[in-house]
Amino acid sequence: MRYISTRGEAPALGFEDVLLTGLAADGGLYVPESLPHFSLEEIRSWRGLSYSELAFNVMYPFVDDAIPADDFRKMLDETYSVFSHKAVAPLVQLDTNEWVMELFRGPTLAFKDFALQLLGRLLDYVLEKRKQHVVIMGATSGDTGSAAIEGCRRCEHVDIFILHPYERVSEVQRRQMTTVKGENIHNIAVRGNFDDCQRMVKESFGNQSFLGGKTQLAAVNSINWARIMAQIVYYFQASLALGGPDRSMAFSVPTGNFGDIFAGYLAKKMGLPISQLVIATNRNDILHRFMSGNKYEQHQLEHTLSPSMDIMVSSNFERLLFDLHGRDGQAVKKLLEDAAKGPVSIEDYRWRHARKLFDSDAVDDKSTCDTIREIHEQNEYLLDPHTAIGVRAARNCRRDSSVPMITLGTAHPAKFPDAVAESGVTVKPQLPAHMADLFEREERYTVLDNNIAGVQEFISKHWKNA
Ligand SMILES: *Cc1c(COP(=O)(O)O)cnc(C)c1O
Repeated sequence: MRYISTRGEAPALGFEDVLLTGLAADGGLYVPESLPHFSLEEIRSWRGLSYSELAFNVMYPFVDDAIPADDFRKMLDETYSVFSHKAVAPLVQLDTNEWVMELFRGPTLAFKDFALQLLGRLLDYVLEKRKQHVVIMGATSGDTGSAAIEGCRRCEHVDIFILHPYERVSEVQRRQMTTVKGENIHNIAVRGNFDDCQRMVKESFGNQSFLGGKTQLAAVNSINWARIMAQIVYYFQASLALGGPDRSMAFSVPTGNFGDIFAGYLAKKMGLPISQLVIATNRNDILHRFMSGNKYEQHQLEHTLSPSMDIMVSSNFERLLFDLHGRDGQAVKKLLEDAAKGPVSIEDYRWRHARKLFDSDAVDDKSTCDTIREIHEQNEYLLDPHTAIGVRAARNCRRDSSVPMITLGTAHPAKFPDAVAESGVTVKPQLPAHMADLFEREERYTVLDNNIAGVQEFISKHWKNA
């Protein structure tokens, strides 16, 4: 499989290079040149497969020439055996035809484990083969960082530097990052917000001279194609569990950087019958505003009860814009350069097409709390604030009650005890056993100013062979 950039000017790459590159040289994101397409008959034949067998079938076309099939199978078996539920992504029923898919049974209790447990293994496999080393630099609003650190802690050929906004992630999230031991793990708390962190990472990828040419950066944010790829699988899993592909499904996806829902869009293009995809945002609602009014405009960042979705711009949205523009990289480049300066719109017929693909809703903190409380009262089931936004948006946007509506459960409620308390539910969500002593573990992190030179100097001094 070949991968091309959404801005049309960077060279096409194979899977291995895309894995290691992150952002394309022209500032774009890599996408597959073409998508595999599965017939209903083929998808039907996957009923009853284990999660990792299904993952192999869905993902191998993207990987094929880079990794022998047996090695990839083994990697997937290892990746999904660390999840704490045999079904890996179990479904919980909320109401008639209404479900939550629990994607938080991995080591760090958020859906990001699905991709990052795999990414760590993929990176080490490829780097071992190439006798190469990389420095991972990533920004996190909370969950990416811990999942990336957990996914890469045993990698021999990787140093990992994670930037998080100082005092802007929940204590559980912070501790999950800062208590992991390992010479190759470095946590940086930046005196700024998530977008400041993300900007520094983007700029560093654009100019890596601070590393002195001795190593290169690799990305763990969802600009890395491998993350999107791994997230396609669970859409197939949910559908097969509920009678697909012989009936279509609706999904509601708590959305920040547009990675998780973009994976759902791809699943649909690959042949999975999906009749509705709901973009569920919090008050950082650039995507909802675009979907409702064809205006793509940055607003001030709001801090909400769902911090993992607190973003001003959604980086993966570029991948959708590329498709909406008939894969014309020049048009995407121009649009995003304009968008950096002020509000932009796209041609009306393109926007109407986007509205056929997605519904959207923005849910504020009050409504998030109401939903947590309501579901707890009705089902004795605790939602985390991100999943609650998904459930609320699913109910608000639902079109056809005969179609199963599946909300992606993106995090475990114990990661966000403050939001649960604020909702008025008095039951305290409990951390699973493997994390029960999280608050006693020793933390390690460095606080740095919101200044790229200082951050780059820290990295250049602290990676393994510096
Ligand atoms: C990352 C994250 C999201 C947003 O996912 P995107 O792929 O960035 O849209 C939602 N909920 C939780 C809990 C997350 O960690």
